[in-house]
Amino acid sequence: MARTDAMVLGAGIVGTSIALHLAKRGLSVALVDRAAVGEQTSYGNAGIIEGNTIFPPAFPSDPGALLRIALKRASEANYHLSFLPHVMPWLLAFRAASRPERLAETARLIRPLFSRAVPEHEALMAEAGATHYLRKTGWLKVYRGDKSFAALRPEIDLAAKFGLPLQTLETAGAQAIEPSLNPVFTHAVFWPEAASVSNPLGVTRAYGRRFTALGGIIVSGDARSLHRTGSYWRVETDEGALDAAQCVVALGPWAPDLLDRLRLKLPLAVKRGYHRHFQVEGNATLARPVLDAEVGYLMTPMEQGIRITTGAEFAARDAPPTPIQFSRITPRARELFPLGEPAEARTWLGSRPCFPDSRPVIGRAPGFTGLWLAIGHAHWGLTLGPATGRLISEMMTGGTPFCDPTPYRAERFTKAPA
Ligand SMILES: Cc1cc2nc3c(=O)[nH]c(=O)nc-3n(C[C@H](O)[C@H](O)[C@H](O)COP(=O)(O)OP(=O)(O)OC[C@H]3O[C@@H](n4cnc5c(N)ncnc54)[C@H](O)[C@@H]3O)c2cc1C
Repeated sequence: MARTDAMVLGAGIVGTSIALHLAKRGLSVALVDRAAVGEQTSYGNAGIIEGNTIFPPAFPSDPGALLRIALKRASEANYHLSFLPHVMPWLLAFRAASRPERLAETARLIRPLFSRAVPEHEALMAEAGATHYLRKTGWLKVYRGDKSFAALRPEIDLAAKFGLPLQTLETAGAQAIEPSLNPVFTHAVFWPEAASVSNPLGVTRAYGRRFTALGGIIVSGDARSLHRTGSYWRVETDEGALDAAQCVVALGPWAPDLLDRLRLKLPLAVKRGYHRHFQVEGNATLARPVLDAEVGYLMTPMEQGIRITTGAEFAARDAPPTPIQFSRITPRARELFPLGEPAEARTWLGSRPCFPDSRPVIGRAPGFTGLWLAIGHAHWGLTLGPATGRLISEMMTGGTPFCDPTPYRAERFTKAPA
C-alpha cells in the first residue's frame, strides 16, 4: 500500500493541471487514470484557450433554428430521439439558464476564472517546455448573415464593460487577417486576446511530464474503486492500494460513474462533439481558429491538419457515434476555406461534460471529508484547466484563492447525501 498527501482521479487537462499545481505547492501527489495522460476529451478539442468568452452557448431562442434542430436538419446540433426523455430535465434547466438575464449573470460569474485562462497556461507552458504549442493570434468568428451579426450587440456591449478588446470587421478586413478565406460571409469579429494551441494532447502530456519531474507519480487504476478507509481515501491501482488524505475527482464526462456510487447526484450531462482533420489545398493557410457562426462548426490549424470540430450532439455518452453533422458541415466549410482531403478515415468523438448553468463545479464535495470536485468544464476544459488547478490547489492547501470560488460550489445543485 502506498500513501500520498493527495490523489487526483482523471488525467485530462483538468486533472493533470491540478496534480501539477499541487506538486508545485510541495504535496506528494498521485495522478490516477485508467488510460494515458490527456488522451480522452482533452485530446480532441478545438484547441482554443477562450480567455475572451463572455456568454456561454445558449439554448436556441430563434424558433426557426429550434425547428431545424427538431427536424434534424441543423448543422450546428444533433440529438438521439431515444435519449431526449433522459436529458429533458437537464435541457429544461439549460433553457432556463439561457434567459438573457441569466446569461449576463453567468458571464459575470465566470469572468474571474476566464480572465486567468491565458496567463495560467503561459506560466505552466513556460516551466513544462510547451510554449511552442501556443499561438497568441486570436480567434476570428465569421457571420454569413446580418441577422446573426446584429444579435451580437449584447455580447459586444458586455465585452466593452469587461474591457475585452475586439474588432468588428467586414469581409475584406477579415481577409486581411486570414487571406485564404473565401468571401462567403459579410461580417466578422476578431478577438485578439484569445489564444490557441497546435496540439492539445502535446500540452497535457507536457504538463504531465513536468508533474513527474517534480516528484509526482502517474498510476494506472480504476477511479470507481474509490472508498473510504479510516481517515483516508483509497483507490485500487495496478500497483496495489493507494491511500491519500485528500482526493480530487477530475473525471470529466465520466465523473457520474463514481459520484453515483457515492450517491452524490449532480446534473452533469454531455454535449457530444466530433472532429476530423483535413489537408489544405494549394498554398492556403490558416493562422488561427475560425468559427463559421451560423453553420456551427470551428476550424483550427493543428499539427495534424485543419481540425474541424462540431457543435453539440445530445446523446448518451457511450452510444455509438452518429457523425451526420459532418456531411452537412464539410461542403459549407469548403465554401469558406480550400480544404483538401480528410487526413484520416474516421471522425473522433468526445463528450463535453456540462452543467445546465454552464459553470464548472470546483470545490469540496458536499458531505465528504477530504473529497474535492473539479468537473463540468463544458466547452472550456482546455481553457480553464490551469486556472482550475491553481484555484483548487490554493483551496486545498489553505492558501488565498485567486478568485471567489463560491459561484463554482457543488452546493448550488445538491445537499450532502443523507
Ligand atoms: C469537439 C470538442 C471541441 C472542444 N473545443 C474546446 C476548445 O476549443 N477549448 C476548450 O477550452 N475546450 C474545448 N472542449 C472541451 C474540453 O475538451 C473539455 O472540457 C476538457 O477536455 C475536459 O477535460 P477533463 O480533464 O475534465 O476531462 P477528460 O479529458 O475527459 O479527462 C478525464 C479523464 O478521466 C479518465 N477516466 C474516466 N473514467 C475513469 C475511471 N473509471 N478510472 C480512471 N480514470 C478514468 C479518462 O481516461 C480521462 O483521461 C471541446 C470539447 C469537444 C468535445
